[in-house]
Amino acid sequence: MPGRTFLFVPGPTNVPERILRAMDRPMEDHRSSAFPDLATGLLRDIRKVFQTTTGQAFIFPATGTGGWEAALVNTVSPGDRLLAARYGQFSHLWIELAQRHGLRVDIIDVEWGEGAPADRIGEILSQDKQHEIKGLLIVHNETATGVTSDIAAVRGAMDAAHHPALLYVDGVSSVGSIDFRMDEWKVDLAITGSQKGLMLPAGLGIVCASPKALAAREQAKCPRAFFDFGDMIRANATGYFPYTPSIPLLYGLRESLAIIAEQGLDNIFARHHRLADGVRAAVRAWGLKLCAKAPQWYSDTVSAIMIPDGTNAADVIDVAFRRYNLALGAGLGRLAGKLFRIGHLGDLNELMLLGALAGAEMAMRDVGIQLTPGAGVAAAQEHYRATAAPLAARPPAPASTDAQLPASGKPAPRATVRA
Ligand code: PLP
Repeated sequence: MPGRTFLFVPGPTNVPERILRAMDRPMEDHRSSAFPDLATGLLRDIRKVFQTTTGQAFIFPATGTGGWEAALVNTVSPGDRLLAARYGQFSHLWIELAQRHGLRVDIIDVEWGEGAPADRIGEILSQDKQHEIKGLLIVHNETATGVTSDIAAVRGAMDAAHHPALLYVDGVSSVGSIDFRMDEWKVDLAITGSQKGLMLPAGLGIVCASPKALAAREQAKCPRAFFDFGDMIRANATGYFPYTPSIPLLYGLRESLAIIAEQGLDNIFARHHRLADGVRAAVRAWGLKLCAKAPQWYSDTVSAIMIPDGTNAADVIDVAFRRYNLALGAGLGRLAGKLFRIGHLGDLNELMLLGALAGAEMAMRDVGIQLTPGAGVAAAQEHYRATAAPLAARPPAPASTDAQLPASGKPAPRATVRA
């Protein structure tokens, strides 16, 4: 099909041209004397995205799932008790992974569409007088339901219960897109993958570990080899990896971190919020509901949109893909067929999102969902227009080469734009 595919799954996300170019390079020797410059800079700078100065970063050739595993096997022992809240497919899968490692997980089941229940967590931890619970697993942004949890509140509940459990937080679809404060929230193990807010292909599983988490390694007996923090710490100390790293991904990560530093984390969070609000305006205009039950849970990186009973979201996704070249996210687990998801994270702007909303709207109408044509797109447009930055605040557009060097050889006058 001519034109670009519109990639609107909540990861992998669009990879900016700058990153594609940075990755497009010949392979090089990962044991050369030049390599430590690259590795050391990345291990230092990635921590800024987690907002930590005290955490130690680990970059595994893996994915978010590998990050889950690395965080657990380095810090606990088979038979240890963990507490976890389950409110979507990813919190469910993380629990399963822990169980496969022989960990006993006390599960707090929460309605899918809500987030981590800080009060309930606090009660359970207060009752655990012997401190048998070694860790608490929380997914910050549940990508399956489009729900963001309040990690500060969870940390507050742990502190109020004076409980020493390690706090494990999955930031796979939040780190680099939604405010994630590892140090302030005293997160012990923070996990992300490369293919979401970092705007890279999948292939890196990134974990930041607090000093308390690193100390827990001494007692942790889970078998570990590929994901052993100890091997990584020794190799990283000299600027190398214990095995062959993905060189293109590391160069891509360097470019990604440069882009994030140039844009500024706060601006990135604000952009995600504004773009997400436009999608939410469209959903309201369609007369549909989000899976997220209340505004306190709304995610700024993904919207999971419930479609009317009697229709199948898989059909919407199929038509969007085959007819309009638009990739939407599917309903996962028990939500299959009930919703589709629009990922609005990473390298995106208003017009890209309006394209996705237009495609979703057409695909929904094609499968028989009654909507006023254009209603969602119009609502999002109005939101983006109403909240647009004043033109004066924008950096001037760079003069193009053509503008500087017209055929006459004289510089062309710069066009002026009035706000
Ligand atoms: N956690 C969350 C919140 C996710 O969204 C995902 C994937 O989408 C994962 C974990 C698993 O990550 P990966 O697919 O990179 O292994």
